[in-house]
Amino acid sequence: MADFYELLGVHRSATADELKRAYRRRARELHPDTNPDPAAAELFKEVARAYEVLSDPEQRARYDRFGDAGVSGAGAGPGGFGDVFGGGGLGDLFDAFFGGASPFGGGRQGPAGPPRGQDLEVVADLDFEQAVFGATLPVSVRTAVTCPTCTGTGAGQGTKPVTCSECSGLGTVRRVRQSVLGQMVSTSVCGRCGGLGEVVVTPCESCGGEGRKVEDRVYHVDVPGGVDTGSTLRLAGRGAVGPRGGAAGDLYVHLRVRPHERFRREGYDLVHELHLGLAQAALGTSLMLPTLDGEETLTIPPGTQHGRELRLRGRGVPHVEGRGRGDLRVQVVIDVPTKLSADEEQLLRHYAEVRGEEVAPAEKGFLKKIKSAFS
Ligand code: ZN
Repeated sequence: MADFYELLGVHRSATADELKRAYRRRARELHPDTNPDPAAAELFKEVARAYEVLSDPEQRARYDRFGDAGVSGAGAGPGGFGDVFGGGGLGDLFDAFFGGASPFGGGRQGPAGPPRGQDLEVVADLDFEQAVFGATLPVSVRTAVTCPTCTGTGAGQGTKPVTCSECSGLGTVRRVRQSVLGQMVSTSVCGRCGGLGEVVVTPCESCGGEGRKVEDRVYHVDVPGGVDTGSTLRLAGRGAVGPRGGAAGDLYVHLRVRPHERFRREGYDLVHELHLGLAQAALGTSLMLPTLDGEETLTIPPGTQHGRELRLRGRGVPHVEGRGRGDLRVQVVIDVPTKLSADEEQLLRHYAEVRGEEVAPAEKGFLKKIKSAFS
């Protein structure tokens, strides 16, 4: 096994605090949850083992004098690793270290403190224009708020939480076992106070000792322009508060944009289908086009083909971060008339004749209609 000091990247004279900081840094780099490399998982175990030895003054002294031989035994190597921490394995070790009380906790460390509250998620619907230009949205959420009666302590009126007698306020309990190789120390979260270091003797009547209450709240959320369905806003600290004065989680607002009757989004571009008649397309026209910024004059040149795209620059959706806007793309759809009046049919037949286009012969019923019209 490599040198423990080298594994942690510290000098041989490192203080306990320096060791702890070095271990935290290395554990974050190497933990299997963040580092998929199998070699990192192996190294993680070695680093944990190194810290386990060096964080214990007695074991550290033995290691300094005798090296590996001084501390090898039940705790050495990956096989023995689980035993040291009660068979919990890597995941438990990590959770305990970063989520709760330190399994290496010595007398100097305080309790872990109350747990952080839950993150909350809500879906908010907004209009198309609100998504394009931004808006302030009221968002209703059922959440947990600090109990006003006990201000989060969970203690009944006129009382205070008292230091936990089981762990003397440390939040963790140390167990010392004798083994053939010497003392084995394991530390676990105090079962009586759950790691808080103090217990409520007379629970608050309002919240039953939880220190928080369920409440419906409305938050007014500033939505920046340019968002779309699938965008999520994170409001730090607007989630549920933790029990007994724990910090609040975050609120995630997932946005859902109602469709527009005229426009659809393609990224930051707006797309609009413009329906034109045959004559308009062939002869050209000028029309008032409604945009999200008001009406604009749009010129359709003569001979405009079906499927042609006309682009109005900067009339699209603003970029959600940074400056600039997408374009408004007008896609031309030419509507071929399906129901012709007698006049229209006559004109079209004349038009076909002039152009030399062969067309289907007129129906009998139609001829009858013409005759009856002129008779
Ligand atoms: Zn209360």
